[in-house]
Amino acid sequence: MDNKMKELKKIIEIDKAYNHAMTLLSWDLETEMAKDSIDNVSKTMQTLSELQYNNLVNDKFKKLLYSINENEINDLDKKVIKRLKKDVFEKMSKIPVDEYSKYNSLLSKSQNIWEKAKNENDFNLFKPYLKEIIETNKKFIRYKGYKDTPYNSLLDDFEEGMTVAKADIFFNKVKEELVPFALKVLEIKNKRIEEIKKKINKKFDKEKQKKLSYELAKIMGFDFNKGVLKESEHPFTTNMNNKDVRFTTHYHEDDLFSSIYSTAHEVGHAIYEQQISDEIDDTIVLAGGSTMGIHEAQSRFTENVIAKNRLFMPLLVKLLDKHLELKLEEDELYLLVNEVKKQYIRTEADELTYPIHVLIRYEIEKEIFSNLDKEIDIEELRKKWNNMYEKYLGIRPRTDTEGILQDTHWSVGLFGYFPSYAIGSAYASQMFESLCKEIDIEDTLKNEKFYLINNFLKERIHKYGKLLKADELILSCCNEEFNPQYYIDYLKEKFSRIYGVINV
Ligand code: ZN
Repeated sequence: MDNKMKELKKIIEIDKAYNHAMTLLSWDLETEMAKDSIDNVSKTMQTLSELQYNNLVNDKFKKLLYSINENEINDLDKKVIKRLKKDVFEKMSKIPVDEYSKYNSLLSKSQNIWEKAKNENDFNLFKPYLKEIIETNKKFIRYKGYKDTPYNSLLDDFEEGMTVAKADIFFNKVKEELVPFALKVLEIKNKRIEEIKKKINKKFDKEKQKKLSYELAKIMGFDFNKGVLKESEHPFTTNMNNKDVRFTTHYHEDDLFSSIYSTAHEVGHAIYEQQISDEIDDTIVLAGGSTMGIHEAQSRFTENVIAKNRLFMPLLVKLLDKHLELKLEEDELYLLVNEVKKQYIRTEADELTYPIHVLIRYEIEKEIFSNLDKEIDIEELRKKWNNMYEKYLGIRPRTDTEGILQDTHWSVGLFGYFPSYAIGSAYASQMFESLCKEIDIEDTLKNEKFYLINNFLKERIHKYGKLLKADELILSCCNEEFNPQYYIDYLKEKFSRIYGVINV
């Protein structure tokens, strides 16, 4: 048995090597690589993804995997075996190898085209790619199979165990309780915020913003001995292992808080990856964060629950003064970073309207993947997008750049991913409730003792990697099951107080 497990681990090591190389190439593509090199990289990626696929998806490996007697191995190895069976043979191997590598090659090209289409506000450029990505995904769902509705297969890819039936309960709450409340708040003109905004109505040097982001990440607990911060078009976090975690942000000279809060968001993802235990990281198969919802919970937690908390303001006042010579009162800053406004761009949205942006994407994706045989009219998607923004947020996108072209996700085939952003935010509110029972949050934030928060998250969530599923991690962290009502109540209470609105 020992020999079989050893042989298996050797093959996993090879998988890790391919993954390492491809992750590094993707990182390079997003941050440093010259634009003209894209075709070359996409060829290399295609070759590597074929090699990686063939390394795992073959009869020899399958035979080895299924011949291991689970009674003779330890609990951790049992989990490794279970994960491999599900990821490789219950999903991946059902897709023919040539179609899989063709799809990967399509994705690396389409991301480039999407970027061009977004910059030039030309949806027509991206349309054929979007259509092909959708049709390929439908084909893959057919290969993999699904329960109840095809969209369930995609939801499960990012949030294991999530289904339309469960997500509908959550998003109906957002639709029925938050949309009317948010629309009411959006009508209020807060004159004080308008006055304070004049103070930041100027350009802020990118290099100075970089220094601020760097210091913020460090204070919040990102370990620069185990990671890197760079700049890219769309902020993201990636990791090779728990000792090489990389994240990016994007600096806008005329929108100072964009880079600050992108940094706070990505730091949440990055600290999660850095705090996964070595024992789990060594298994490779269980390394990395659990579901996307749990991952987003970490980032929305640091970005919103912590960095937009009234108690976080003294630190932010200090950093703004130090790096940008910007002098603001704590109360002014609190109002400013929690301003609720009609915003077209999801990533720039305030904490209250954010889940409504996600609700729109959820409803569109749910419809696209409700029927595999129905051909999708891409032009219709644009109309639906714009109509829903008008209905739920009271705004109609003026261009596609600020409408359907704004997110990178669909250009890289990430359907089923968006819901995890909002569900993650809901997990984050529940995590905060639990954290406040354990530590003195006022003292912790006032004295910048972020290690107390990070230790709590490490012990309850981070260290486990993929060993535990979302529902098990929420139970471990909160001592109760997931309850979206915490999130709805948290948002209504916070913004009722700021805006003086009666709860509706
Ligand atoms: Zn995120």
